[in-house]
Amino acid sequence: MNQLTGNSDAIQGFLDSIDTFLFDCDGVIWHGDHVIQNVVNVLSQLREMGKKVLFVTNNSTKSRKAYLKKFVTLNIEAYADEIFGSAYAAAYYIKHTLQFPIDKKVYVVGMAGIQEELDSEGVRHVGSSADDENLHSMSDMSSIKNDPEVGAVLFGFDLNINYKKLAKAFTYLHHNKDCHFLATNSDLTFPAGGTVYPGTGALLAALSAPLDKKPTILGKPEPTMMEVIVNKYKLNRERTCMVGDRLDTDILFGHQGGLKTLLVMTGVTTAQGLEQTDIRPDFVIDSLGSLL
Ligand code: PLP
Ligand code: CA
Repeated sequence: MNQLTGNSDAIQGFLDSIDTFLFDCDGVIWHGDHVIQNVVNVLSQLREMGKKVLFVTNNSTKSRKAYLKKFVTLNIEAYADEIFGSAYAAAYYIKHTLQFPIDKKVYVVGMAGIQEELDSEGVRHVGSSADDENLHSMSDMSSIKNDPEVGAVLFGFDLNINYKKLAKAFTYLHHNKDCHFLATNSDLTFPAGGTVYPGTGALLAALSAPLDKKPTILGKPEPTMMEVIVNKYKLNRERTCMVGDRLDTDILFGHQGGLKTLLVMTGVTTAQGLEQTDIRPDFVIDSLGSLL
């Protein structure tokens, strides 16, 4: 593990060894709606050096289109085909890997990002905001019945998670032996406002605990998004670096994909967490903003 901060020879050697950077977003580029200091400058200098820049986020609440708007609003240079989110990874997997039959539909627990990405892949879906209103009494439970047309449950972060959504998702998975159990990501927490809150993985635990199936995770650290990115850009894995703030998603994603890895300390990983982990990044830096 090489510490890059303050060591210009090490930084130069690192830069010379990499052609493409995959950047995790939250905790690396921004904190919520605030760009991390000097990151815009570093990104534009990397582009000037001829480096390829891609953005890879596990946050499924936005589609690629919505992320592009966020980049524009934050004055960060980015292009539609540089952005990969876990909602897109899930929609891509359903369409291309599962070759989802047209007579089936996906039941979604999640927000607009998932709906938009399923629409962009032409996959029929139900649930999501349509089920934001919860059941009102125990007798409403009888309205929840199996639907054999539901061929997959796709679970992502949902600010409006409720019992109705969990009970519907459970019912389809429990009664349809062939119903695919999919999730955009399994981050147990996500950072906001200087602390952390329960993430998709925490909500997902309530659905998976009573089931005898385990979800297939489509976001980091699993290989689906990596395969889409590497194939699309024909990347040389040895000269590609995954930059992230989280060991069990970003750094593991990079390791499993055969990439170099750079951990930044502006997100969820603490110095103590780094000492105690088995997941060792190749390089560590205080902030992406200190790279150049
Ligand atoms: N999931 C949710 C709901 C989030 O809000 C966040 C970060 O804000 C993440 C996942 C992690 O996103 P990233 O992979 O960009 O760190
Ligand atoms: Ca992150």
